[in-house]
Amino acid sequence: MDVSESGLLRTFSTLDKDDNGRVWAWELLSTLGQAGIQPTDPRVRAALADVRDPEGRQIRIDIQPVEIDFRQYAGIAQHGDGVVYRALAGELAVAPDEFQEYASSVEAMYGDLLANRDGKVADYIPTLRDADPERFGIAICTADGQTFSIGDADLGFSVQSTSKPFSYAMALEQLGPTEVHQWVGQEQSGGTFNDYRLSLGEGRRPHNPMINAGAMATLALVDHGQETSDRFRTVRETWTRMMGQAPGFDQETYLAEKATGDGNRGLASLMKAADMLKASGEDGAAKTADFYFQVCSLEVDAQRLAAAGATLANGGIAPYSGERVFSPETAGRVLSVMGHSGMYNDSGKFSDQVGLPAKSGVSGNVMMVVPSKRLAVVVFSPRLDAAGNSVRGVEVCKRLVNEFGLHPYRGLGAERSRAVAARSGQQLAGALNEADRRAEAASAVDRALGGLSRPGTGGAGTAQTTDTERAGAAATRRTGQQTQQL
Ligand code: GLU
Repeated sequence: MDVSESGLLRTFSTLDKDDNGRVWAWELLSTLGQAGIQPTDPRVRAALADVRDPEGRQIRIDIQPVEIDFRQYAGIAQHGDGVVYRALAGELAVAPDEFQEYASSVEAMYGDLLANRDGKVADYIPTLRDADPERFGIAICTADGQTFSIGDADLGFSVQSTSKPFSYAMALEQLGPTEVHQWVGQEQSGGTFNDYRLSLGEGRRPHNPMINAGAMATLALVDHGQETSDRFRTVRETWTRMMGQAPGFDQETYLAEKATGDGNRGLASLMKAADMLKASGEDGAAKTADFYFQVCSLEVDAQRLAAAGATLANGGIAPYSGERVFSPETAGRVLSVMGHSGMYNDSGKFSDQVGLPAKSGVSGNVMMVVPSKRLAVVVFSPRLDAAGNSVRGVEVCKRLVNEFGLHPYRGLGAERSRAVAARSGQQLAGALNEADRRAEAASAVDRALGGLSRPGTGGAGTAQTTDTERAGAAATRRTGQQTQQL
């Protein structure tokens, strides 16, 4: 990124408090940290890796107490997508102060919700049944890769159903919506996500890509016709591009999903029999189900999954690399389906209470996207409610939305009523000024008339009027305050 000299000088001078042309590296890193850009960020690492001393040796400014000069700063600031400059210039998705507010709020929620032990872990396979229910991690990632995390945010878990929005995105990218929606619908299903009765919606398609039948129907389209190993590589690479790091693979979960996967294999077979699964060959259905189990067994953590969510929040551009992974249309379609069907059978209630697109998985993860702030929040906590959503996860989403007024349908008209109140406040202030002006003029007349004005005549009458006006003005002032509060 090329930045003007004046921009570089201006941002350098915010760090160079002694005005001696040098800044401590720790000062730079701590200012970046305030903006949510961490020293571990691959972009920061890459920018710092290029810093050389006058002899051309690499300086490890992340571990050595060193000072850098303006020339070195200019190199760091403009490196790659210029994240260092943009952080210092206040040009990131979320302003540093606001980002700090999210971070402190999440930190407080984390402390508060540790005591919430409601719900129970999924028990249909050993790896989930044996998960430590106390685990709890929260991560935030913005479109510009500003991150904050707390607790077990780097603890791996199988992504499970939270893979579904991304598999849908991959199918959309490869084939476009017309082809994809020949195989899967866009409506709420009303049934459970894992309903093993094949219930086809309008057009004899599974209702949407968030239920198992629909997820398998979309996954069947990804790299269709290629070997499962190649298809799996495509999926894993897409996840790597979104997260800036490769996902792991939870082999035990995969084997257990496969061993207990008759329901999903059955669904795939029924869909194939009804010509609603793009899979050929006698083992086409079983292979599709197997591909689905593999994708559900990808291992992520809250931090990495938040980066995948931020890719959606950023219209398909990955936060750490700036690489376009999905088109804006694809990202929009994925968020739409998450908005109406991402939270199992509580999707409607979640939409009412939270109003933002989210997806959960039975390992206890919830990924919520806040499009208006271009950020994603991921919570990992294995205890689930009756609908299969992480109890603490849903709670964090609700609290965040309430605390920061992020619900898109709540408080509508508030801006307008504030504007109306402000306008009527201005009118009231005008009336007050007018009353005061008239009162002032009346007393000036009184003063000028002096003893000439007799009680009961015009002067006193004017004074009475003035008192009435003042009383009215005071009443108006109170009303004005009430209007403002409304
Ligand atoms: N592998 C799980 C299944 O299909 C996904 C469960 C989920 O996270 O919803 O049953």
